[in-house]
Amino acid sequence: MSGNHHDTSEHGPAARVKALEQLLIEKGLIDSAGIDQIVDAYENKIGPRNGARVVARAWTDPAFKKRLLTDAVAACGELGIAGPEGGHMVAVENTPRVHNMVVCTLCSCYPWPVLGLPPVWYKSFAYRSRAVSDPRGVLRDFGLELPDDVEIRVWDSSAEQRYLVLPERPPGTENFTEDELAALVTRDSMIGVAKVAPAKKQ
Ligand code: FE
Repeated sequence: MSGNHHDTSEHGPAARVKALEQLLIEKGLIDSAGIDQIVDAYENKIGPRNGARVVARAWTDPAFKKRLLTDAVAACGELGIAGPEGGHMVAVENTPRVHNMVVCTLCSCYPWPVLGLPPVWYKSFAYRSRAVSDPRGVLRDFGLELPDDVEIRVWDSSAEQRYLVLPERPPGTENFTEDELAALVTRDSMIGVAKVAPAKKQ
């Protein structure tokens, strides 16, 4: 397999984690449901909140946005966001004319520091293969119908390059604070399979 992706061999980190999990379950220290909850938290709740902070800052601070698009690792570092699987992050900006979406065609490379753990579908063969051959169809399956004149750019991740989509700031959010904006930003919008939906201010 390519050395550019995660080591998924039987001796790799995934196998070691699996073995450790099994051991902890056997010792009665944890249960599977508990692990599922933790994974869910990092996948859906805790993980992507870092990315949401980055996006909200970019929406409200043009100089930061410029730095983010130039050097995402350094810009995320300004917000104290860094860590494993995040050494080579690149931010790509959605505009009314260009929509970016991210895939890892070989395995599941993903920018952990900003998005947490990748969702199951991101790792699925169906997504990895179709994201490249039929991105418009995949987006439609996610409920996102893009006009024909919007260019779709598909970015194939690797250990050397992991992508964060900077989604468009939704209309009607002119008076939102940075925290309120961050609360709107979803994981899927930062993978590029959704837009950020407008929301009413509380
Ligand atoms: Fe990969």
